[in-house]
Amino acid sequence: MRISEAMMIASAIETSDKKVWEAIVTLIEAAKKQEPVKPVPIKYEPLIRHGWEYGCPACEKAVGFNKYAVEYTDNDPFCPSCGRKLDWGDWSEE
Ligand SMILES: [Zn+2]
Repeated sequence: MRISEAMMIASAIETSDKKVWEAIVTLIEAAKKQEPVKPVPIKYEPLIRHGWEYGCPACEKAVGFNKYAVEYTDNDPFCPSCGRKLDWGDWSEE
């Protein structure tokens, strides 16, 4: 079963128990981060000037390699800020 399918089924569970509902919501939020999203080109000028090219679409923080610090930065498998799984496509093999 795919995570997206499990999330759909879980979000349809009806309960009047507040604790159970909180548990479901917490798990859905955690599962959402496992679904890869493609990094987006950064538009914030000061970050671009400092060598960043891509941002996390979930939290909008800079992710991936920084062209001025290639020894220390890489295309992260997860966003270092919010933990969202990132899909770098073919870039990860470069
Ligand atoms: Zn993020």
